[in-house]
Amino acid sequence: TVPVVTIDGPSGSGKGTICQLLAKELGWHLLDSGALYRIVGLAAERKGVPFDDDAALADLAANLDVEFRPGEPGEPSAVLLDGEDISNEVRSETTGTLASYVAVHNPVRDALKGLQRGFAKSPGLVADGRDMGTVIFTDAPVKIYLIASAEERAERRYKQLKAKGESVNLAALLKDIQLRDERDMNRPVAPLKPADDAIVIDSTGTAIEDVFKQVLDKVKS
Ligand code: C5P
Repeated sequence: TVPVVTIDGPSGSGKGTICQLLAKELGWHLLDSGALYRIVGLAAERKGVPFDDDAALADLAANLDVEFRPGEPGEPSAVLLDGEDISNEVRSETTGTLASYVAVHNPVRDALKGLQRGFAKSPGLVADGRDMGTVIFTDAPVKIYLIASAEERAERRYKQLKAKGESVNLAALLKDIQLRDERDMNRPVAPLKPADDAIVIDSTGTAIEDVFKQVLDKVKS
């Protein structure tokens, strides 16, 4: 079987960066599962599918014409929907919220399972998400759950978005993050929580390089 490392946690916990660094270090594949929910959210909005129509949303999720085109090592891959490069839109804050609306529906989550498991290919996979360790890759030998205070996560997002030239407001970001946490943790299906066998790492006040060292230590031990 292909080795899998799962890294789960709330929005802004540093998962994305850690997963990219780890995949690069190990030379493994990377699954950005949040991107899949983001794409379904965007596709629903574009096609006018109501966010409470779980059957129609699942149908959309099952038939996505999506492609990930690997970027430079350590860089996120380009995301193509129906052949169109939607990389920037996919990572916006608004799209994150749309993703969390579609992610509450079990049929949508089911429709994305096979696609996600298909990413586990030799020599190995680093899986980034909310339920990688609890639902999708329950047998993964190493499971990490990354946390950080909501304030710090909002500040990290603020810097990221600002660097991309997006106009952002720190207080609004904090509010967004708190609402998204609440939706992700309190939904009936695949609620955000650490797997029983996950190693929890709190990155509040820790530089990303040091968090990465801690993660790498666990993976190599
Ligand atoms: O990680 P990211 O911010 O891209 O995720 C966007 C949203 O997609 C999350 O807030 C969550 O609602 C949903 N999601 C999920 N399960 C995953 C990954 C993301 O429910 N494995």
